[in-house]
Amino acid sequence: MSFQAPKGTFDWLPPRSEQILAVREALVAPVRRAGYGYVETPVFEDTQLFARGVGESTDIVSKEMYTFPDKAGRSLTLRPEGTASVVRAVLQHGLHNGQLPVKLWYSGSQFRYERAQKGRYRHFWQVGAEALGAEDPALDAELVVLGAEGFAELGLTGVRLLLNSLGDKVCRPAYRAALQEFLRGLDLDDDTRARIDINPLRVLDDKRPEVRAQLAGAPLVVDHLCAACKAYHEEVRSLLTAAGVAYEDDPRLVRGLDYYTRTTFEFVHDGLGSQSAVGGGGRYDGLSEMLGGPPLPSVGWALGVDRTFLAMEAEGLLSGDEQGRAPGLVQVYGVALGDDARRRMFLLVDELRRAGVSADMAFGGKGLKGAMKGADRSGARFALILGERDLAAQAVQVKDLTTAEQTEVPLAQVVDVLKGKVQ
Ligand code: ATP
Ligand code: MG
Repeated sequence: MSFQAPKGTFDWLPPRSEQILAVREALVAPVRRAGYGYVETPVFEDTQLFARGVGESTDIVSKEMYTFPDKAGRSLTLRPEGTASVVRAVLQHGLHNGQLPVKLWYSGSQFRYERAQKGRYRHFWQVGAEALGAEDPALDAELVVLGAEGFAELGLTGVRLLLNSLGDKVCRPAYRAALQEFLRGLDLDDDTRARIDINPLRVLDDKRPEVRAQLAGAPLVVDHLCAACKAYHEEVRSLLTAAGVAYEDDPRLVRGLDYYTRTTFEFVHDGLGSQSAVGGGGRYDGLSEMLGGPPLPSVGWALGVDRTFLAMEAEGLLSGDEQGRAPGLVQVYGVALGDDARRRMFLLVDELRRAGVSADMAFGGKGLKGAMKGADRSGARFALILGERDLAAQAVQVKDLTTAEQTEVPLAQVVDVLKGKVQ
């Protein structure tokens, strides 16, 4: 009997797993340069944290959570997203009593029981950034700019930014009522009708053509913004324009819950089929209070690492080097023939690694042919070949695997020579 990874999950294996690490790093590099500090929260939390922090009426909470009792009967849930945990951690440790905004970033696995398909998995990876405790359009703009820079850092050119404002507790209630009145006049199924009462904005997000068609004349939140929300939104837009970040106004971009306020945005990529969102975020001024904390106006985003990888694949950004080889894990690969040479090579690769040159060697007693094949497969730039005769001469053959050029280098100098060559 053999096991398979559970439905909706998959393994990242070398060499692609190296590329996914690089994607994660590149996506968070801009926020790290902007004073965001790393936070790591548990992979599971009290179920109620997500029920309240993500919202009972969302798909995530109502259908997609991995919830289980622990041995003491507590209800725990594998995290489906990062924001609720970050806010919980800030409140628990009183970070909001210090300098504001509290700026944090995270990176990690998320779990949602979804209909598995390309770009939609049950275990996926997000990186996220949150800035808590300040109401300032420059902060919203900063996060959007930093998100856009992350995608740009990877060479992606096909990421579009959609932008909207959801209003606040002053103007949202009147808009919500106007939307509910409009929706009640439509021909909708029972489930959707039920949403009109609990989460009417979410109906605007319905993807079904028969619902979309009826929504054409729906009132839009942009037309109902109060003066303060309008000015705030204008400032965000003009800062983005000044920063050279292109965006598209999308008056139908919504998040259903009351604690999402003002700025909301999504990064989309057209090379991913129907799963087009590579990231999303916005302002959540009411979330802290929802979790029992003080008012803490905040803004954040989460970027989907797996979907970003797919977007890079779609743009042809993940091919190997000019020879079509996958990027190697090491720069140098040792091939030794005979027991004494093997012992010397063992020490030599260790010396190389200590000197900052990544190195591997042939294991398992392979002959020259098998070991050279290993060198080729490793993706290393150089092979070091050490036979008994070389050893007697205190020298080693350095073969450039991209040109097949081979030179003899004294053993005493080879570390320095290679250090010079791989930099
Ligand atoms: P979608 O509308 O595609 O379901 P979402 O609104 O649920 O996305 P968010 O909760 O905003 O997504 O999560 C932020 C990002 O995480 C998304 O833009 C996407 O890139 C990624 N993401 C969300 N769900 C999944 C999933 N099931 N598999 C892979 N990536 C995902
Ligand atoms: Mg979703």
